[in-house]
Amino acid sequence: MLAREVWLLGSQSGSAPQTSTRESTLLSPILARSRRSAVDNFPFVQVDELDLRLDDSAASFEEMHFELVSTDLMSRARRGRLETAHGTIDTPVFMPVGTQGTVKATTPSELSEVGAQVILGNTYHLFLRPGLDVIRECGGLHRFMGWNRPILTDSGGFQVFSLSKLRRITEEGVHFNSHIDGAPCFLSPEVSMQIQDTLGSDIFMAFDECPPYPCERAYAEASLERTLRWAHRCRGWTEKQLQGKPRLVFGIVQGGVYRELREKSALGLVNLDFDGYAIGGVSVGEPEAEMMRAIDNSEPFLPKDKPRYAMGLGTPPQLVEMVARGVDMFDCVLPTRLARNGTAFTAAGTINLKNAEHKTDQRPITEGCACSTCQSFSRAYIRHLIKAEEILGLRLITIHNLHFYLHLMRQIRDALEAGTFPEFRERFVANYARYEPDAETP
Ligand SMILES: [Zn+2]
Repeated sequence: MLAREVWLLGSQSGSAPQTSTRESTLLSPILARSRRSAVDNFPFVQVDELDLRLDDSAASFEEMHFELVSTDLMSRARRGRLETAHGTIDTPVFMPVGTQGTVKATTPSELSEVGAQVILGNTYHLFLRPGLDVIRECGGLHRFMGWNRPILTDSGGFQVFSLSKLRRITEEGVHFNSHIDGAPCFLSPEVSMQIQDTLGSDIFMAFDECPPYPCERAYAEASLERTLRWAHRCRGWTEKQLQGKPRLVFGIVQGGVYRELREKSALGLVNLDFDGYAIGGVSVGEPEAEMMRAIDNSEPFLPKDKPRYAMGLGTPPQLVEMVARGVDMFDCVLPTRLARNGTAFTAAGTINLKNAEHKTDQRPITEGCACSTCQSFSRAYIRHLIKAEEILGLRLITIHNLHFYLHLMRQIRDALEAGTFPEFRERFVANYARYEPDAETP
């Protein structure tokens, strides 16, 4: 079914979404899943969004929003497809980070060119600036930023705990001061869900507490229990308020470095029947071995028929290793952040274009790379731009780096479909030099 047909059916049907109460959902997830007709799921698609990538599969969104296409026999890697209201996402997938309603230094058409399927929006930042009134009046985040493919929004939990210095955690939520102007603010599970709804997100993240690393066991346990209670409230809000809207809601597994706490967190969330599960509390300064352990300690307790998302990770070989551990979705600021200090990703590791060795180098960043940067510009020219602090320099590296990450995920998907993922994994990780973000020689 085409998007236009979906829209017409949705607007003509005039049927109100069927009733689904928070209570019935929590008591009976299976009943809750079958509560809506496909048509009722798409009543809000606008005429000017008719080029959205909705297809036949979107019509049965409610019944099969995640489909496993193939699995690797030698590892836990999976090739899948996730249906959203703004199109299908092929997994494993990398999601560029659009913190302030922009993936830094790129336009939406450039994101499409490098193969981005879904991007991240940031609840905390967009809530503080420009604020919900602006986003609402401008028709939601998709229209505001000119991006008509899927958007996943984080819950704001991670930023509240990492950015705002003054905060007070209560059972109700978190009181904090804006890192921009110090204004007092409050985020709770319900407020976070409401913000993500106003943004028009396709994939909501439950509001969680993200404890620091390292973290005492007693605090990690108390924190994860509160996160579970908050997850329950998020689920309650979304089941009640999102009736008829084709939106997905993911829970976030916490529990720090403690295996039994990860299990407890995962099982508690699975009981709430989320549409997908994120592994949180990683990317907080822990060593790589702890990061992989957090995945290993969480993944066995997550349902195979739901997508898994490792939050805020990682380097290219880490992505390959996490795919092998059964993770389907990733986001990370590395490709965009490192671009801004002149660092480019290649299959052999990172190179710093500020280095003198590139001064007259006529080669592109990577020979044979299909990105627009490598098609037109030399290392020498990009080095000059970075040295001269010209904006174009960081734009060109950002485009190449995003292309590198997205192409890597495409290669992983192709290898999974061809049954050659074990060979790809071994070859890629062996070829990639150890990641050294500060490597810069005069
Ligand atoms: Zn390139």
